[in-house]
Amino acid sequence: MKKTGRVFVVAGPSGAGKDTLIRRVLRDAPGVHYAVSATTRVPRKGEVHGKDYYFLGEEEFDRLLERGEFLELEEVYGNRYGTLKSEVEDAVSSGRDVLVEVDVKGALTVRSKLDGALLIFIMPPSIEELESRLRKRGTDPESEIKTRTGIAPWEIETGESVFDVVIVNRDVDEAADELAGVLRGEKV
Ligand code: 5GP
Repeated sequence: MKKTGRVFVVAGPSGAGKDTLIRRVLRDAPGVHYAVSATTRVPRKGEVHGKDYYFLGEEEFDRLLERGEFLELEEVYGNRYGTLKSEVEDAVSSGRDVLVEVDVKGALTVRSKLDGALLIFIMPPSIEELESRLRKRGTDPESEIKTRTGIAPWEIETGESVFDVVIVNRDVDEAADELAGVLRGEKV
């Protein structure tokens, strides 16, 4: 029987360090395909269309939605984000592992649709640390930081109770090693 790839779903509160960890780990795991999401959010400085996200207008996003192209989608902090079926299914059916980065609700949807998806939660050391990281990042206004940290307690509770793996991002090198180990199938 032909080998199909595994699906790794990474979620966690904004500011927990998901992007940094994912970037590091994928550098050393060229066999893992990163599923680029579509979003209606405007690009931040340095973000590249097709690499970080597919940055779409509301109408383009609606068109994909009508065509049934999303595996899941959510409104997160006022913008729409969605995982494209094509980004996941093409790789998986050709035997490649796929890493999907979504919010916590999106992760639960992926699990309900794809049997065997492994849910990985990136946990900040504390809510205070989360807030301080978001401030240092300097990409979001104060109101946005409050929105992002406001939902974090629920996200953390859900991560602890229903995700398959929880990685505490206290030290980025250690957390990246842990995530790399999970992708290699060494944990769980
Ligand atoms: P950001 O705007 O900071 O890049 O992402 C905001 C949030 O949206 C993060 O929690 C991120 O994980 C989530 N997100 C990114 N892509 C997707 C997606 O395709 N689906 C869902 N449900 N959430 C996503």
